[in-house]
Amino acid sequence: MSSVVLDKVTKVYPGDHLAVDRLSLKAEDGEFLVLLGPSGCGKSTLLRMIAGLEEITEGELWLDGQMANHLAPRDRDVAMVFQNGALYPHRTVRGNIAFPLEIAKSDPNMVRERVTELSKALHIDETLDRRPGTLSGGQRQRVAMGRAIVRQPKLFLMDEPLSNLDAGMRTELRMEISALVRSLGVTTIYVTHDQVEALTLADRIAILNRGVLQDVGTPAQIYNDPATAFVAAFLNSQQLNLLAATVRTPQNQYVMLDFGPHRLTIPWSDPRAYAISQYTGGQVLVGMRPDGLAPVPESYDGPSFFGRVRALEYHGHEWLAYIECGVPAVPVPEPPDRAALRNGQRTGSGGIAGLVRRLLPQRAEPEQQEQEQTGQHPGSGIHRRADLIVRLGNRPVWRAGDAAKVGVDPNRLMLFTTEGTRIDKPRR
Ligand code: ADP
Repeated sequence: MSSVVLDKVTKVYPGDHLAVDRLSLKAEDGEFLVLLGPSGCGKSTLLRMIAGLEEITEGELWLDGQMANHLAPRDRDVAMVFQNGALYPHRTVRGNIAFPLEIAKSDPNMVRERVTELSKALHIDETLDRRPGTLSGGQRQRVAMGRAIVRQPKLFLMDEPLSNLDAGMRTELRMEISALVRSLGVTTIYVTHDQVEALTLADRIAILNRGVLQDVGTPAQIYNDPATAFVAAFLNSQQLNLLAATVRTPQNQYVMLDFGPHRLTIPWSDPRAYAISQYTGGQVLVGMRPDGLAPVPESYDGPSFFGRVRALEYHGHEWLAYIECGVPAVPVPEPPDRAALRNGQRTGSGGIAGLVRRLLPQRAEPEQQEQEQTGQHPGSGIHRRADLIVRLGNRPVWRAGDAAKVGVDPNRLMLFTTEGTRIDKPRR
């Protein structure tokens, strides 16, 4: 077992390309830590720096309490599994798995025993005498995994090991990796861009964007209590509903989120009320997951939105309803691009705050509003028109064209500044 400490680690590639920026993170002994983020956010670079395959430009790497910036890869006792686990084509499965032990001149009886045991755990014991060329993609990844695990390293580094497999095989192997790695108790850092893999595998998830750490916590913490709008949107199987509202405190009776045609009130007794009231007269972003919204009867007088059902979408295990409610969705604010700022470039026109101002219903010109509403937005919040997405479970209670009242669970509202930072501090 081994702990990994990254202290303000930075990677600048030739050409002044900033790939990882002052990133600090710790993987505890025996922990399964998942690095999650969109393609190009610096996950592999980080993993390769830990393995010693990429030089660290600035900052410190500590492995098991030892300063490791300049430690040779072979002295780090690290095993790595890649997306395409390259195997030796002329060796059998047995020969491939046994290879690291053979070069370490281990006792042949021990090697045979260990390979047999491991091949059973990985469900490839039937293939031990076959060559890699005759195996399926899933079987080849199992062999690659076996070869990494066989010499019981202190640290596993896995770089998208499942991304080339079909969906069924991915799910199966995901469960097996989890069981195997946990039974061995080896510290594991696992890179993926797939949020389901991250949620199902991780003890903790670290979310990166543009080389910058956005949030770190258990899957439940990150899902229920994200630090930024970017994290909330990234860790969301459906699109996040993100709407702009003006904060008001009428006669100081309560805090009101004014969406134009809709209003939600937050009583002073709500622990978030004070923090939100600091924005009185200004705008905030309100995040609502589709599973935090539900159809309610016309007579319902709790917090709600109203609108018309524009479309229903069947997803097998659930229906989603798209409710036209007259409030345009706001694109998810991207954290600042530090690399571009570093190079003196400007990011976007007017920034997200400017965009939110333009999108606010009471301010936007109708023509401009239509243009914004139908456009594709960057990030994951791609909404069309003024839709609220509502999860309906497995019974579509509405039909397209119906008038719809949507109940809001106030405890599941996520409140962000127009730059995308949480207003009420996440509980970490
Ligand atoms: P991820 O694994 O999250 O997809 P990477 O770590 O591969 O991201 O890449 C992070 C950034 O660094 C990307 O912008 C990528 O283009 C850049 N990058 C990666 N490798 C190199 C390299 N060898 N030289 C220059 N830039 C690189």
